[in-house]
Amino acid sequence: MGVPEIFGSLVFNDQVMQARLPKDTYNALRKTISQGTHLELDVANVVASAMKEWALEHGATHFTHWFQPMTGITAEKHDSFISPQGDKIIMEFSGKELVRGEPDASSFPSGGLRATFEARGYTAWDPTSYAFIKDGSLCIPTAFCSYGGQALDKKTPLLRSMDALSFQALRILRLFGDMTSKRVITTVGPEQEYFLIDKEMYLKRPDIIYTGRTLFGSRPSKGQELEDHYFVTIKPRVSAFMKELDEELWKLGIPVKTKHNEVAPAQHEMAPIFESTNVGTDHNQITMEMMKVIAAKHNMACLLHEKPFAGVNGSGKHNNWSLATDAGKNLLEPGDNPDEQFLLFLAAIIKAVDEYQDLLRVSVASAGNDHRLGANEAPPAIVSIFLGDELTEIIESIKSGVVYQSRSKAQMELGTKVLPHFPKDTTDRNRTSPFAFTGNKFEFRMVGSSFSIAGPNFVLNTIVAESLRQFADELEKADDFTKALSKIIKDAIVKHERIIFNGNNYAAEWVTEAEGRGLNNYKTTIESLPTFVEQKNIDVLTKHGVLAEEEIHSRYELLLENYVKTINIEALTMVDMTKQEIIPAVMKYEVELLNLVQGKKSLSLCAQMEEHLLNKLSDLCDSLDDKLETLDSALVNGSGEQDALGDARYYRYTIFVAMSELRCIVDQLEQYVAKKYWPYPSYGEMLFSVLN
Ligand code: ADP
Ligand code: MG
Repeated sequence: MGVPEIFGSLVFNDQVMQARLPKDTYNALRKTISQGTHLELDVANVVASAMKEWALEHGATHFTHWFQPMTGITAEKHDSFISPQGDKIIMEFSGKELVRGEPDASSFPSGGLRATFEARGYTAWDPTSYAFIKDGSLCIPTAFCSYGGQALDKKTPLLRSMDALSFQALRILRLFGDMTSKRVITTVGPEQEYFLIDKEMYLKRPDIIYTGRTLFGSRPSKGQELEDHYFVTIKPRVSAFMKELDEELWKLGIPVKTKHNEVAPAQHEMAPIFESTNVGTDHNQITMEMMKVIAAKHNMACLLHEKPFAGVNGSGKHNNWSLATDAGKNLLEPGDNPDEQFLLFLAAIIKAVDEYQDLLRVSVASAGNDHRLGANEAPPAIVSIFLGDELTEIIESIKSGVVYQSRSKAQMELGTKVLPHFPKDTTDRNRTSPFAFTGNKFEFRMVGSSFSIAGPNFVLNTIVAESLRQFADELEKADDFTKALSKIIKDAIVKHERIIFNGNNYAAEWVTEAEGRGLNNYKTTIESLPTFVEQKNIDVLTKHGVLAEEEIHSRYELLLENYVKTINIEALTMVDMTKQEIIPAVMKYEVELLNLVQGKKSLSLCAQMEEHLLNKLSDLCDSLDDKLETLDSALVNGSGEQDALGDARYYRYTIFVAMSELRCIVDQLEQYVAKKYWPYPSYGEMLFSVLN
């Protein structure tokens, strides 16, 4: 079958709905999807029945409400369609089962929103994201909330933020005379980076199995220094994996487009064509899951951690983001004849990113991403915007009031509708910027590879909605629209231009300059998280109905808890690996050396090298003993702190530091101990494990 035939073949999409639903039902459902209206139970019954028939024809036996709890991964509980009829069974699926589910929620993180005795949680069908078949189950995308209606998932705030942004953006569009658009959506195209290593190697590394990253490993002789991996020919085994991944994702209606090798050895990237943020988010979750499943089938392991290997590039997820009307017009497309409407949206984004740098930083904070952001890796922890030469010149001219002379020699005076043609490539790309304008969209590059993109996107949507709200408030009451418009754009640019930086974001000077500009630099999760619960951030999220105050606090607690748990698992894994395998391995080698030294000496032979090595190992073992003891007792003692932030700080400044010191000694030992005794595959072996 050709790609057009298999694309979406496992999705209950618009085409299937049109073909299988009675016209009334179809129209009612379409209205719910496009306008968010309530769906009556009798309509749901008809939809459910058609879905079931379709699913059965495609080999499904079960259905599941597929949701995204705050673990960051997806959850599903499968129920078969069977219903007893005397001695036989029939296959049934009702509207009630489609619309609402009631999983036992007590084992999902709630950050204190739900007491354990209140086990109830509800899943509610999200008709804006199509149902699909995976592994014999009809998967129904759902939102997940508590008995009291508080969001317990990643999807709910995202949907709320899309509503908020749509509402405010429509106010702006109306002011510019657009009376027909019914909705403004945000679009997202997430570029997903990942590593592939041989499964045999993976199975020998408890650190990767338990934590997703290597906790030990001395540098390989070869890393990425020759820059010989980026875009090179894809090896047959990796290619076979990518082909199967493409095909499986196409069947699920995921528009996978690009694949290539990345900078680090064993690192790769895939990117789909952009979609509505809600659907794109669901699709990215499925993509990450499929990557793991399909890699295993090809005898490999797919690593989605932000930093699986020290010393080589980590993995991110470039979140390409824009706004579009329901008719598909990209509002960030400068186009051939761009106007103030474009500049107003641009100004709204510049203002939002500057005012809520901290919230954007929180949205990408995690123990894993700490190894990238602010840790000599792309991009830095300082949020700034790259606009490129041409837009920057336009911004400059708006500021100074001087007529803009474009490269294409067209002139632009502020307040007139003659922005020059703005071809995508008049400006160079800046790969170092955390938030870059790339022609007709922004690329938010701080997102970690393992993240659900729901968080970063609900923050982006909300903060931009807030700028738009303020602009709309002013413009709606202005006597002279054109004058008010020019003033708003100019004021926003003057006030927020400190966030614009087109230079090298990796340079040390930028850190100093950014500090001079008063930009935030939260190097770690621990420094950044407390800003989540600052009043201005609570205000913006509650004002737009994206998160209630208690939901914010619960999420804050969860993020801190998650940080502590992650580091705790890493530390315990290190301790166990050291005690159970590394120390015994070193001892074996020491015994061998000791015997050799004694043997040589009994024959009156010189044993200089052996003794030297033995001395070196003994010294390292002494240090190892100290460092292990330090980490072990720090774990046993605990922080003694009462609150989650205190605990998290302890894990950052005591446990994490002790882990790094232990690693340093173990990595030296790896270089001295004979290979046959070392219990783990080396960095070199793992990074170059997929040979052909
Ligand atoms: P890069 O050179 O950074 O890899 P591409 O131009 O190939 O960038 O696009 C990267 C991603 O951006 C793709 O997923 C693409 O679909 C997405 N993208 C393009 N236009 C938009 C848009 N208007 N909104 C959101 N994402 C977009
Ligand atoms: Mg990119």
